[in-house]
Amino acid sequence: MSAPSVLSNSSSSNAMDKTVGILGGRGGQLGRMLAASASLLNIDVVILDVGDYTPAKQIVVPRKPETSHVDGSFADPVKIRELASKVDVLTVEIEHVGVDVLEDIQSTLPLGVHPSPSTIRIIQDKLIQKKHLRAHGSPVSDFIQVSSSFLSIRNAVEQLGLPLMLKSRTLAYDGRGNFALHQLSQIDEALQALKDRPLYAEKWVPFVKEIAVMVVRSTNGEVVSYPAVETVHKNNICHLVFAPLRGCDPAAAERARQVAEDAVKTFEGAGIFGVEMFLLADGSIYLNEIAPRPHNSGHYTIEACETSQYENHLRAILSLPLGSTALKVPSAAMLNIIGASSDIDEITQYAKSTLSVKGASVHLYGKADCRKGRKMGHVTVVAPSDAELRYRLRPLLENLPGGSP
Ligand code: ATP
Ligand code: MG
Ligand code: MG
Repeated sequence: MSAPSVLSNSSSSNAMDKTVGILGGRGGQLGRMLAASASLLNIDVVILDVGDYTPAKQIVVPRKPETSHVDGSFADPVKIRELASKVDVLTVEIEHVGVDVLEDIQSTLPLGVHPSPSTIRIIQDKLIQKKHLRAHGSPVSDFIQVSSSFLSIRNAVEQLGLPLMLKSRTLAYDGRGNFALHQLSQIDEALQALKDRPLYAEKWVPFVKEIAVMVVRSTNGEVVSYPAVETVHKNNICHLVFAPLRGCDPAAAERARQVAEDAVKTFEGAGIFGVEMFLLADGSIYLNEIAPRPHNSGHYTIEACETSQYENHLRAILSLPLGSTALKVPSAAMLNIIGASSDIDEITQYAKSTLSVKGASVHLYGKADCRKGRKMGHVTVVAPSDAELRYRLRPLLENLPGGSP
């Protein structure tokens, strides 16, 4: 009697029999964690980014010549086509990619491109994203397009008031692309700071907390969400995430999940989405922006949830059953390890110091160079209660490179 086919298949091929291509982005940590997750399922991964030993490529040694990595930029159409020729499905760790080439190649790939290029096209221009969300009934703050002129911005202030958030429509991250305008006299400074970038203006949201929900959408349109979390930013960079969201009406957390799920349902394609929102004092919620990829606010899911955001992204794009999004611990936090200077030893020392903290799991991203403001790693802490979580978190916050947030 011959062996069951499931065994004979798995001996030489990967467990899921499909190869995933990742269009690598700026930092590489999202691709790195996605690749680490794929390795648990024996899924072959091919990575396109610049260099041979990037954070993501460090994780995957190709198992055959056909799945060797690609050295090049996520912005280079030739390299994107080369990556596409090697894989069954292509996904991204950054939304600031050339969509035209992705649209061209998606029908040539057995499982296409996820998230869908049409989704990336909408999301990568924040003004178009906001118009899309508003048209589909998502709660968003008022906004208007502005041009890079004093008069246009003054007109926006007349309509939306002060303070006013000026935003670059494209290529924004970590708040680089935002200017908080508090008085009319700052308009020239704002124009200087956002020079040559396409802009829009957003009414200021007087939020009490920033919150986020990861949502995963399968190829058949099924949408499930992770618990709502609180995100704490410093200098526009996410520093801390607390899961689950506390300190507000539990109904607000459920509403946040609903807002996030409803928003993700309006987009095409499969995969994980990070939905950033604002919680106001009266419990109402505004949607800030959506990232069509794994997200910093979802790193905690690796240790704290039954299925991580990375594994669920892979499951979604490979049409595998989605995993449970439930928390498996009562309380969790994620702390970003952000460079304070070019001194990488400081990061290593800090990572070592986390090893003696109960419930802490440190992730270093394998970046060759450290810079002020660069995300170098993160620590997730899990605990049996919120009180114990705060106790475990305290030394991690006190010893942070460059001081506590
Ligand atoms: P990311 O790294 O999350 O992609 P980004 O550069 O795309 O960031 P936003 O998320 O739009 O920038 O804004 C960065 C931060 O600025 C938000 O997390 C929030 O703290 C603040 N912010 C953004 N929009 C508003 C607003 N309309 N009113 C008040 N604060 C805002
Ligand atoms: Mg953004
Ligand atoms: Mg943001």
